[in-house]
Amino acid sequence: MPIINRAGEMELHTLTAHELAKLLRSREVSSEELTRALYEHIEKTDEEIGAYITLTKYIAIEQAKEADKRIKEKRGVAPLTGIPIAIKDNMCIKDVRTTCGSKMLSNFIPPYNAAVINKLRENGLVFLGKTNMDEFAMGSSTETSYLKVTRNPWDTNTIPGGSSGGSAAAVASDQAILSIGSDTGGSIRQPASHCGIVGMKPTYGRVSRYGLVAFASSLDQIGPLTKDVQDCAVLLEVISGYDPLDSTSVNMNVPDYMSFLNKDIKNIKIGVPKEYFVEGIDKDVKSSIKAAIKKLEELGAIIEEVSLPHTEYAVATYYIIAPAEASSNLARYDGVKYGYRAKVEGADKDLLGMYEDTRKEGFGAEVKRRIMLGTHTLSSGYYDAYYLKAQKVRTLIKQDFDQVFKGFDLLVTPTSPTPAFKIGEKIDDPLQMYLSDIFTIPTNLAGLPTISLPCGLSKNGLPIGLQLIGNYFDEGRILQVAHAFEQNTKSSSL
Ligand code: GLN
Repeated sequence: MPIINRAGEMELHTLTAHELAKLLRSREVSSEELTRALYEHIEKTDEEIGAYITLTKYIAIEQAKEADKRIKEKRGVAPLTGIPIAIKDNMCIKDVRTTCGSKMLSNFIPPYNAAVINKLRENGLVFLGKTNMDEFAMGSSTETSYLKVTRNPWDTNTIPGGSSGGSAAAVASDQAILSIGSDTGGSIRQPASHCGIVGMKPTYGRVSRYGLVAFASSLDQIGPLTKDVQDCAVLLEVISGYDPLDSTSVNMNVPDYMSFLNKDIKNIKIGVPKEYFVEGIDKDVKSSIKAAIKKLEELGAIIEEVSLPHTEYAVATYYIIAPAEASSNLARYDGVKYGYRAKVEGADKDLLGMYEDTRKEGFGAEVKRRIMLGTHTLSSGYYDAYYLKAQKVRTLIKQDFDQVFKGFDLLVTPTSPTPAFKIGEKIDDPLQMYLSDIFTIPTNLAGLPTISLPCGLSKNGLPIGLQLIGNYFDEGRILQVAHAFEQNTKSSSL
């Protein structure tokens, strides 16, 4: 029930979407009042956290008024009507600047909505603003953003995770009730884990990628970042579904995800992949995950060790495939079609010179590194040795999971090998940064659905995330087990 502050006012921004939905429906609170309360809170805390690149108050208040009208007239009211949400800045909202964390797109105003944006609007959600992210979603700390620094609300000297760091920090600091992010190698789950919230990467093809700025198209997937599992279930249902505009979108019914909650988890078979408990994993993370596994067992799940033998090749495979696709996807930024264009000065500057300067000035170091890596591994003479080989290993990684899922319902692992690290700690060491995603990358390569949810705190008081991996399109079962775990641990009130 609503938390009342000392002045006797409801602290609306601290509530979950499902708590607020009741208050909106009974008209104890209006969406406009709620939206204004959020902006008030954002104003007070924005300087400290830096979650947003663009605030869209002028749109949000109008949308909130419209939601209030819908609720008052009982016309087209959906479970999340009137709830304010933050959007990662790589999803297009018509007429709203979409930077993708890059100088290249820092003045790009899309003429259309992403498919998820249309779905959110149809459901009557309210857009608070666009959140900070690593440039083109390449990174694990949000530090490669061209626009600003985002800080972890739990300790502002640490990173919020990335690349959806702004979305995670916004929810964790109560600057948004819900948010959405994108996950190519862990970018929803790792920031969710570091910020002590719930984050889900759905099955590849479950949510349309139309209007998501492409990074690595065979890996990218949009998903929810929320305060709890129930909100995650509701938001997932809103954004899921077939879209003819995304050729990899899958035409399958969207289940009622809420119906999976509040079921017991007796006899659900959960595998613990031994390759995820290797050396180098932080000891607080290890002990929290062990305790979480014990809890799942107490709740009736059957726990057994399993093996995913090709896990050790996942990071290397990802860093061939993702940059290869990125080098192709980012070829479109040439100073002509979108965004930034270098000045063409002097007699020696021809069209090629303009392309070169645009890309040299418009992209940051990490993006350039990936473009060079990808161009190299796709080039004739190297293609077979790198790209083709990586695709074969990718199949082996997928087959490991297929094999295990013949006998198990879910897998449980840590989300990240460490809690959030200090700002600046890894930014000059790309290999260390890449290892942040060692536990999240394999499921992007396989296309499997995965959630991260809070499961405790480190000795330094930083959140630790538990990862649950399901079989294709088995998001319902993941949510069922995640909800049971959350309801039976104190971590839900972290
Ligand atoms: N950190 C990984 C990378 O830099 C994953 C990013 C993501 O999921 N978008 O590529």
